Amino acid sequence: MELTRFFQEDGHWVAEVHKRGRDVLRDALINKGSVFSENERRTLGLRGLLPDRQATVDLQVQRVVETLDRRDSDLGRYEELADLHDRNETLFFRVLLSRLQDLMPIVYTPTVGEASLEYSHIFRRGRGRWITPRHRGHMADALREVQGDIRLIVVTDNERILGLGDQGAGGMVIPIGKLALYTAAAGIHPSQTLPVSLDVGTDNTRLLEDPMYLGYRHPRLRGAEYDEVIEEFVHAVRETFPHALLQWEDFKKGNAIRLLDRYRRILPSFNDDIQGTAAVALAGVLAAGRACGRSPSQERVAILGAGAAGIGIANQIRDAMRRDGLDGDDLQGAIALLDSQGLLRADREYADSYKEPYAWPLAIAARCGLDATVGPPDLLAVVTAFQPTTLIGTSGVAGTFPEEVIREMSRHVEAPAIFPFSNPTSKAEATPVDLMEWTEGRAYVATGSPFEPVAYGDDEIVRISQGNNVYIFPGVGLGALAVESSQVTDSMFTAAALRLAELVSEADLAVGALYPPLSQLRGITRQIAVAVANEAIREGVAVEPGGGVAEAVAAWMWDPTYPEIRPT
Ligand code: NAD
Repeated sequence: MELTRFFQEDGHWVAEVHKRGRDVLRDALINKGSVFSENERRTLGLRGLLPDRQATVDLQVQRVVETLDRRDSDLGRYEELADLHDRNETLFFRVLLSRLQDLMPIVYTPTVGEASLEYSHIFRRGRGRWITPRHRGHMADALREVQGDIRLIVVTDNERILGLGDQGAGGMVIPIGKLALYTAAAGIHPSQTLPVSLDVGTDNTRLLEDPMYLGYRHPRLRGAEYDEVIEEFVHAVRETFPHALLQWEDFKKGNAIRLLDRYRRILPSFNDDIQGTAAVALAGVLAAGRACGRSPSQERVAILGAGAAGIGIANQIRDAMRRDGLDGDDLQGAIALLDSQGLLRADREYADSYKEPYAWPLAIAARCGLDATVGPPDLLAVVTAFQPTTLIGTSGVAGTFPEEVIREMSRHVEAPAIFPFSNPTSKAEATPVDLMEWTEGRAYVATGSPFEPVAYGDDEIVRISQGNNVYIFPGVGLGALAVESSQVTDSMFTAAALRLAELVSEADLAVGALYPPLSQLRGITRQIAVAVANEAIREGVAVEPGGGVAEAVAAWMWDPTYPEIRPT
């Protein structure tokens, strides 16, 4: 029997609660702490377990904020918030929403990265589900132990945690953080979310040699054995939570691309690192294009870094160019992709087959004189010959947009769009201050990590936008869930990107910003979800809900207020 059951009644959330006494206080989904009323204390067996006074939620928020202010490090604040998350979810989300811009870097990147590195040393209480090779043959049973109507799963195999590589069991903080952002932005009720770590071992010797390490202490599973774990997991999810949407998170590029291709039609799923990044980049390109009077078919885009993010971005931008009328060689020749060896050109051999669709045939390279070089042309040669309007960095290497490249680019383009997207801050291809300097203040800049506004000239302050995936994935997930979409298609991401770009105001563009302020995240997410749901219906992977799309989206959006509790 479920000890707690959540449902909506007349637009508010009700929890039927079978527990009593301390078990109620230990259940973070229903715990109200000092806010429990006299009547609730009596019927739930809480009399004497709490101090006398019934507090208000505002006072609770204030108490948490005071506690956070007393901590002297971001990791300390992360631990404080993680404790609160495990103790009282409603209050956790109240606090998070009340200061989203300040707390986002704590519950997510960059601080979540520190928490991942320190995971086995700061561990307090397990959250989510760990699936290890020991569960083979009974993964569905392991998932059935989870209580609740799970609709949204974020799963990682921990191999490419942010820019930190293989973090083994410590990768769990990422699905937890992403789902916290889902609830904050899209209002998905926390009882319907499940973070999962597929702990298939680790090749990180620091972890394997650490006596405190809590994960599956085994070299990382590879090949057929790895694939079997994934296959059983996917089928266990379908069997146990048939209405759930699954987000693949922080898998290394080969597996990321392969697993997405293999499973996206088997269960509704997507990969935020590939598709979410791509949509946020496309929105930035469209917003910059709007500011400079360029349509997608008039862009020439150079992308440095042909991994999961770079390829995803290229796919999404190519699709937008096709929709805008480009085809054939014009389409192929509108995006130049470079990896660590230089331009992707047809006279090279590729170990990664996903690069091949972007390798320029020599005839296309010849159009800008890039066919005859010995070895693949480097970024400076490509920028000189191809004259890109937009330059995007997903190389993961700092300093790869040097001054001579940027000055050369800005010689050919009045308002270049330049996106050093690599994270964390120390990996950015260039800093916004330098980019403004080298382009005489003409560039539209969006970054992967947050940067302070840049003062340029006598009185100009340029707002540097962060191309944060949080603008996209909550709206895509919410839109797909609201209409029970059977798949998450690429054009649903395009719809999200188009809507996000439309939500950039003239006032944003006037100060150089390519995304709206994060403080508007809830409203942005709602509007993106409506666009995504409509696209799913148009594509035939969902049907229009009886009461209309906007209403269906709104009905999913939980506002963090305490539920009405009905003891059973
Ligand atoms: P990845 O490992 O899959 O790809 C990196 C690619 O860069 C590879 O193709 C590699 O060959 C290439 N590369 C390495 N050194 C290079 C060099 N000196 N010049 C040119 N290319 C080089 O990694 P990924 O998942 O694609 O992520 C790449 C970067 O993008 C990371 O720093 C990540 O944090 C960032 N990222 C940002 C966002 C965002 O801002 N919204 C989202 C996702 C990823």
